[in-house]
Amino acid sequence: MRISDILRDKGDGVVTVTPDLTVQDLLATLAEHRIGAAVVSADGVGVEGIVSERDIVRQLAARGAAVLAESVSSIYTAQVHTVEPEADVADVERLMTEHRFRHVPVVSGGRLAGIVSIGDVVKKRITELEVQTTALSGYITGERV
Ligand code: AMP
Repeated sequence: MRISDILRDKGDGVVTVTPDLTVQDLLATLAEHRIGAAVVSADGVGVEGIVSERDIVRQLAARGAAVLAESVSSIYTAQVHTVEPEADVADVERLMTEHRFRHVPVVSGGRLAGIVSIGDVVKKRITELEVQTTALSGYITGERV
């Protein structure tokens, strides 16, 4: 299974924020869309960074509420791991587990083409494993499935 299979189901929409947005407005954006992370992009096409609820929590703990008036550029992660639509879902699951992040932007030809969360990846992997289990069980028992 490929990342493009996930995007076919969930769509290629990505919530982006500009680096000059305040952290307070970022919180409102995350709450409005019921998401945990946004891609930082000045033009909605290139990926400049990623900012998640964890970045906000860490900075609040370290620097207090003053961070809410600062801009996203002061808290985002600039070294973003991205994947291409052709990436294998199991490889992306390993990438997320190894690096302990729950979001990966999808980039195609240098342009933002979607985003997958750990929830999307695990859901697809479970479906994949169920299909394999059913096929193997049919093979062993000789029953058509
Ligand atoms: P998350 O688990 O996605 O909420 O993110 C945990 C931390 O990893 C935060 O500091 C994020 O900014 C960062 N992060 C999230 N996704 C990525 C990614 N694809 N590449 C690099 N860092 C990321």
